[in-house]
Amino acid sequence: MNIAKVVVDVPASQTNRVFDYEIPDKFVGSIHKGMRVIVPFGPRKIMGFVLELTDHSEFGRLKKISDLLDVTPVLTEELLELGKWLSDKTLSFYISSFQAMLPQVLKAKYHKEIRRVTEESLPEQLENIFASRDYMDYDEFVERNGPYNLLQKAIHNDLVEINYHVASRETFKTETMIAPNREPFRLEEDLINLPKQAKKQKLLLNYFIEHPEAISQSKLLGKLKTTRASLKPLLDEGFLKEYKQEVYRNPYKEERYPRTTPLDLTAQQRQAIEPILKTIVESAHEVFLLHGVTGSGKTEVYLQSIQEVLNQGKEAVVLVPEIALTPQMVRRFKGRFGSEVAVLHSALSAGEKFDEWRKIQRKQVKVVVGARSAIFAPFENLGIIIIDEEHESSYKQDEHPRYHAKDVAIYRGVKHNCPVVLGSATPTLESYARAKKGVYTLLTLANRMNNSAMPKVNIVDMRDELHAGNRTMFSTVLKEEIEARLSRREQIVLFLNRRGYSTFVMCRDCGHVMNCPHCDIALTYHKKNNQLKCHYCAYEEQLPSLCPECESDTIRYFGTGTQKVEEALAELIPEARVVRMDVDTTRRKGSHEKLLNQFGNQEADILLGTQMIAKGLDFANVTLVGVLTADSLLNLPDFRAAEKTFQLLTQVSGRAGRHTLPGEVIIQTYTPEHYSVQLASQYDYEQFFKKEMDMRKTFQYPPYYFLTLITVSHPNQAKVMEVTKVIAQLLNKHLSEQARILGPTPSPLTRIKDRYRFQCMIKYKNEPNQRDVIRKILSFYEKEIQKKELLIQVDLEPYQLM
Ligand code: ADP
Ligand code: ZN
Ligand code: ZN
Repeated sequence: MNIAKVVVDVPASQTNRVFDYEIPDKFVGSIHKGMRVIVPFGPRKIMGFVLELTDHSEFGRLKKISDLLDVTPVLTEELLELGKWLSDKTLSFYISSFQAMLPQVLKAKYHKEIRRVTEESLPEQLENIFASRDYMDYDEFVERNGPYNLLQKAIHNDLVEINYHVASRETFKTETMIAPNREPFRLEEDLINLPKQAKKQKLLLNYFIEHPEAISQSKLLGKLKTTRASLKPLLDEGFLKEYKQEVYRNPYKEERYPRTTPLDLTAQQRQAIEPILKTIVESAHEVFLLHGVTGSGKTEVYLQSIQEVLNQGKEAVVLVPEIALTPQMVRRFKGRFGSEVAVLHSALSAGEKFDEWRKIQRKQVKVVVGARSAIFAPFENLGIIIIDEEHESSYKQDEHPRYHAKDVAIYRGVKHNCPVVLGSATPTLESYARAKKGVYTLLTLANRMNNSAMPKVNIVDMRDELHAGNRTMFSTVLKEEIEARLSRREQIVLFLNRRGYSTFVMCRDCGHVMNCPHCDIALTYHKKNNQLKCHYCAYEEQLPSLCPECESDTIRYFGTGTQKVEEALAELIPEARVVRMDVDTTRRKGSHEKLLNQFGNQEADILLGTQMIAKGLDFANVTLVGVLTADSLLNLPDFRAAEKTFQLLTQVSGRAGRHTLPGEVIIQTYTPEHYSVQLASQYDYEQFFKKEMDMRKTFQYPPYYFLTLITVSHPNQAKVMEVTKVIAQLLNKHLSEQARILGPTPSPLTRIKDRYRFQCMIKYKNEPNQRDVIRKILSFYEKEIQKKELLIQVDLEPYQLM
């Protein structure tokens, strides 16, 4: 086996296959499938994944593998297969899929340098830039506008050469360990020989005579209240020795999570868990949809199912949406399974994520709790996969490879013969329809724990408020109810949906709105620094003092960002203590947890926030939930708008009255009659499902039809229109009669980062040819795509329609 088939790190359709490389003698036997290697590719060296080993190749002279990056494979055989499947399914490159399954730090770092190869001096202009160095960064050369033609000439004349370096980005954290270097009795002799005044040194030696095992330097020095200066002579004399030991960066210290034991399940929970336990014991694959209202005890069902999996000696993956991966959620899993749990959360640093991943790879943990990409956890003996809040759109990745974690979960569930549990209070229409058809097994938790009632929902028509002369963002009832809670020392959650509804800046005189010069979208006002920012590109500018259009000074910001609500709240109810949670206040690591603790310890009365507070929070003292604007989601150009509104309102309502105190919900809206608002207020999922299914059928949307969204972008508008038109024609010609092709139409976001965007949508029931047709279209435009001018994004079963 001296030939490796390698997928190289060049995401392009010509390179989307394996290349054969010869394994040099020194690596024969050390290279295995799933390892990363460095290989020569054209003039460069690049990273690649070994897919297979073989002893013959149909090609003649093969290049040799230059280096090996791993000692053990980073991708298991199952994951290699999964990567191939994923690429075919999502129409992405193999390399993109493999990289998506691994921690960021395992991606390669490339570096290009120019090196002098002779003593001869270079042409003057080059010599100036080199400034008598032997080599320089290629990036620096470009940055300083180096003369490219001279460089080429110099390469041609063998004066300089270009070197390519490739390396892995992973770093390991180490800790200095101190240990005795001799037998204890020898140390006792050494002790006697130490000078009298060397008190600290004596203390140190004494310590090791009593504790001959290794200890970390920082612990040792802390314990004995001394410094490295006292330790140094002992190391120099050879009494003690030091060495580096690798340690995990551990963001979740076990001791912070008190251990919990399984609760006695209620009759309802027992009924739900039985079929799951059965599949675990029988090693059978089955997909369960656990439909349980908020607070019905789904998490306890997950925990006890996992316990059974561990009893069987197997492993568990639990996915929770990014924003629901709160410290509270982590506590429930760490509390039950302690150090058996790894947590993969995007708020961790790249190094911390890598360390958590390595615990999985080394089989040092048996449970993973994480966001979307945790579905690729390199376990080899999976016993269950759980997806909590299965309706969350964050389970769909919106860049390459555009996969849905649910599909990957089911793929792995089949391979491992294990159950997949999808849990939600508001399942997607797709999942619920499948459960009704018997494709998934429906399990229901209809009642809350202790049968506490769902909080009463009060819908407030904001148009009436306006007619009555209330121009604030708080209705009279909401204000009164907040005040009532404050006087009873109860707490309040105020929810504001920020998506598609932010603070824009407008001139009151002429109506001019400040737009991003690169994207057709209003800029968002950020009070801190008085800046305007674009949420789609990095553009920002200072808020002008005069309108750029009419020079009036009546330029104001509008809309309801969380900052603005906070200000309005301070004006309306000055005595309320408010904790604000949004992307701005939670950016720093640990801030999320700090703010929640503050609220949990009742150091604040009101928790004000965006999406991120809608899920998973469980505070006993919260008795009022207010939704400031229910409409903002409804108005998005998305066929899931009603479904998302229903889900969000249900989730938010679930935050109130979860324990002994009864809860109440106030929903403010301009469209109180809309069925998603009405039915959410009655907690009538079944009715909503019926109504929404009718709509989907009428308008030919999922789950009745599948969708494929093709988005084309280019700096030139005419070009975008033309390409999209050709694509639509090709689709019409090559897909079946049943497929409906809509478009070309401008995307809802018509321009982003100076690129115009057009789209076309395929609605279909069964198009086995579809992927082949699209692949052909993509390769037809390959040259232009490579130049990065033209971009064609294909999203099968999209969640983002903008
Ligand atoms: P869900 O995940 O469905 O929203 P949770 O699992 O958070 O519901 O359960 C709601 C509350 O009920 C939690 O505080 C949880 O500790 C508690 N609980 C769950 N199951 C039981 C049980 N069998 N006995 C007592 N309390 C339980
Ligand atoms: Zn103006
Ligand atoms: Zn922009």
